[in-house]
Amino acid sequence: MPALPDCIFCKIAAGEIPADVIFQDDRVMAFLDIRPVSKGHTLVIPKNHSASMMEADDDDLASLATHAKRVAHAVMRATGAAGFNLHVNTGAEAGQVVMHTHFHIIPRYSGDGLKLWPHLEIEPKTRAQMAEEIKKFF
Ligand code: AMP
Ligand code: ZN
Repeated sequence: MPALPDCIFCKIAAGEIPADVIFQDDRVMAFLDIRPVSKGHTLVIPKNHSASMMEADDDDLASLATHAKRVAHAVMRATGAAGFNLHVNTGAEAGQVVMHTHFHIIPRYSGDGLKLWPHLEIEPKTRAQMAEEIKKFF
């Protein structure tokens, strides 16, 4: 999809507004998050506009995944992070604020105190039913 005039990541991809760019080629770009969750927090985007990964071109998505790996490798080397979270918010309800597909690479440090999700307890039968429901949509 062509660039959207009001999309901030389209503008970054086009070089129209500044960003701390780490890598770019024809298809993808990686730059530092302006409000990082941790030191070295990086975003990887396809240059083509899509509102979320659900609308993204499959080839763009494949490139995003392989470049997320490359970017994560460089970020880990540069920061000395012990690990990272690859994070994708899809939809406003999931916390997506910028409606242009992006992957977050959030470096993790020993004792950084960042918390992930709480887990639900679930009966095996309920879980099996859920699996059956989801399988219907493949
Ligand atoms: P999300 O909640 O997944 O949509 O995340 C959007 C991310 O984009 C947030 O972590 C913001 O800090 C980041 N962000 C917003 N504007 C910019 C910008 N101009 N340059 C870099 N990062 C940005
Ligand atoms: Zn865009």
